[in-house]
Amino acid sequence: MSTINQDRIRLSKNKPPSGDLPALTAARKAGISTISVHAGEARQKPTNSITDPVAMASTFTFENTQAIIDFIENDEDRGEYGRYGVPGEKVVERKLAALEGAEEGILFSSGMAALVGLFNAKLSAGDEIIFFDECYHRSREYCRRHLSRFGIVTRQVKTGDYDAMEGAITGKTRLLVSESPTNPHLSILDMDRFATIGKKNNVETLIDATLATPFNIQPLGYGVDYVMHSATKYFGGHNDLLAGVVLGSSEKLAEVRALRGVMGSVNSPHNCYLLERGLKTFELRMQRHNENGQRVAEYLESHPRVSRVLYPGLESHPYFEIARQTMPGFGGLITFEVADADWTATSRVVDATRLARIAPSLGGVETLIEQPLVMSYWGYTPAERATFGITDNMIRLACGIENSEDIIADLQQALSV
Ligand SMILES: *Cc1c(COP(=O)(O)O)cnc(C)c1O
Repeated sequence: MSTINQDRIRLSKNKPPSGDLPALTAARKAGISTISVHAGEARQKPTNSITDPVAMASTFTFENTQAIIDFIENDEDRGEYGRYGVPGEKVVERKLAALEGAEEGILFSSGMAALVGLFNAKLSAGDEIIFFDECYHRSREYCRRHLSRFGIVTRQVKTGDYDAMEGAITGKTRLLVSESPTNPHLSILDMDRFATIGKKNNVETLIDATLATPFNIQPLGYGVDYVMHSATKYFGGHNDLLAGVVLGSSEKLAEVRALRGVMGSVNSPHNCYLLERGLKTFELRMQRHNENGQRVAEYLESHPRVSRVLYPGLESHPYFEIARQTMPGFGGLITFEVADADWTATSRVVDATRLARIAPSLGGVETLIEQPLVMSYWGYTPAERATFGITDNMIRLACGIENSEDIIADLQQALSV
């Protein structure tokens, strides 16, 4: 038996630094899962709970008037009014910034709100922006129908035509914009080339990297100025929330944060918590999305009823080389065409699936399937659809995290109907 008198022992009260992820050792940079589980969170929370408390509040109280003045003058990190951000939102912003390797991230209520927030903060009447033409149809719609009303001109050039993009730059150009991979063709950008065109011409650059996530590419590392994501997709990862984020340097984003506080496109405390929770498994999910995407794409390419598969991990993809050189994987989204099918025969394949659910979106745990002609381009003329490369027999499949053999079995039976 020990004879130590426990009453006399007082251990030193070691208080590790709160807040950011502690450096494990000088030489060791934290891995992706370590970042997504821990970064941005206080080590010891105010409630002593391991998870962040969810403060359901629209406003935050001050002890007295001097406390308000101190808050304003010292730029103290605390809540004031919900439209300027809630505590849970700051945690998620720090986590996302750490994942992206960005100085700062600003969370919005959806991916579109993030895009609109960035454009509205950065652009003024008379300015021009240049887009690669393959893009999310609502991003294009915002520029064409809305930014145009405020005297901002959008020019579109063919995706991957860097000379055309550089040639379209004028003294009024403020921003070069592209997705990578693009939706739904999954074209991959040469980030180096894109960022260099911006720098050389003194024009800022933006990548919508929703389909890649920082697991597969980190555009800021190539010198791109801003990255945005629909956090609704892989970041949230469970098809249960909407959110968006813009990331970059604090200096460049200061105006965006100020505008967000005025626009009010913010997230509820509960939404922030769902996103924080979803992010904990980010790396595990991305590994599976990458594996499933690759396996299912290879299966589809070998299927006699499939005439074309667009997936950057297939040698047949026009951007296979640059994809292979710059990214470890390409996510769960696959676009394919049913051989000799008109749009109704294509719909029958979609309707015959049993595991895949018919819905827009991607990046969640559930596999989703849809026909772009019907889901996103129904109101467009055939000529317009041809311009955007949307064919009648095209299907967009967003692989979830189910077992790839089950997704393949589902497609096999759907393609035999
Ligand atoms: C979904 C999506 C958006 C829009 O994001 P929301 O969260 O739906 O507003 C923007 N860009 C891409 C590439 C997307 O897939």
